[in-house]
Amino acid sequence: MSVDKDLKFTTKAVHVGNNADPSTGAIIPPIYATSTYKQDKIDKHKGYDYSRAANPTREMHEKNIAALENGTYGIAFSTGMAATTALFQLFNSGDHFIISRNTYGGTYRVLDEVFKRHGFEFDFVDTRDLRNVENQIKPNTKMVFIETPTNPLLEITDIESLNQICKKNNLLFGVDNTFMSPYGQRPLELGADIVMHSSTKFIGGHSDLLGGILITNDNKLAEKLYFIQKSAGATPSAFDCWLLLRSAKTLALRFQQQCDSAFVLAKWLEGKNLKRVIYPGLKLFPQYALAKQQQKTPDGQSIFGSIISIDLGSIEYRDSFLSKLKLFSLAESLGGVESLISNPFHMTHGSISDDRKLAMGISEGLIRISVGIEDVIDLRNDLEQAL
Ligand code: PLP
Repeated sequence: MSVDKDLKFTTKAVHVGNNADPSTGAIIPPIYATSTYKQDKIDKHKGYDYSRAANPTREMHEKNIAALENGTYGIAFSTGMAATTALFQLFNSGDHFIISRNTYGGTYRVLDEVFKRHGFEFDFVDTRDLRNVENQIKPNTKMVFIETPTNPLLEITDIESLNQICKKNNLLFGVDNTFMSPYGQRPLELGADIVMHSSTKFIGGHSDLLGGILITNDNKLAEKLYFIQKSAGATPSAFDCWLLLRSAKTLALRFQQQCDSAFVLAKWLEGKNLKRVIYPGLKLFPQYALAKQQQKTPDGQSIFGSIISIDLGSIEYRDSFLSKLKLFSLAESLGGVESLISNPFHMTHGSISDDRKLAMGISEGLIRISVGIEDVIDLRNDLEQAL
């Protein structure tokens, strides 16, 4: 079946990249579990010579996710961090970057402890206020890279306005869209040059694989990224690409359900007298209006994500709460069908200094909840008995 770019999201999710196998008619494309390819003669092959350079299953997954982001090119990696690393490998020693201050701890770590050693310069700023970005632009600034909403404080950046600043200053603009998935936000449509996902999260959706992907419409950028992909070699396995192809088919259904349940739970948590309940769908959330306008399903409905952060105030309360939960597992990661809970201070953001975390509002009592697809009443009852 040849597919049309104008198809709706769920149709693309099911069909783009998912052509039936021409040799057998199998409706599900095979997993091309091969490292190499038989060549007809020297310099004559069927488009594939070695799987680090190209693999049919990987290409299917790349096409599929690119279509969901309304992009042209997808470049897949073995993890989200490998995708971020490949993005920064586009640049040179002496280049300067502006990054969201409250970015995922692993992103902060690779930039601050690896790329800095190679002569890269970074400023981590609060990109909720775009003047902070404008103030940090230097002659050697090359890219602004943001997360919105951020992990775990759910700080939101106005993508369209920031894009205007980037274009005016000739800066590349990248967005880590992991927290919203392509179903909840499509930054390329708002002007971004490149979108990054940890596919480990909502795209994979079942906590059974690691993956990362970059998506762009710019053919020159894509060419450079494919070159880095095959040269540096952090490529995903054919099996993981096949699982991602399968998972993406249900992304819209899963993400919508997870967000609907998170909305219900956040409203309920708001009435529980906790120190802080952070969820972009709450009217008291300082950036509620921006979230409502920017985070939209492909049909144009506002959507607020499936992550809620709550501050329990003390370590004692936090530990007693965590020990009583039965359905929410204490674990890193998010976006899967099963609800997870974590303590960013000691877990996802463990590599950031305590002073830096506390200055941002990542306290020891802060808990991040990733809402799954379980029945919301069971989830609420579990939280209630633990609180
Ligand atoms: N970006 C965000 C927002 C994340 O939450 C994560 C992982 O938690 C990553 C990037 C890194 O992705 P991965 O764990 O797949 O390497």
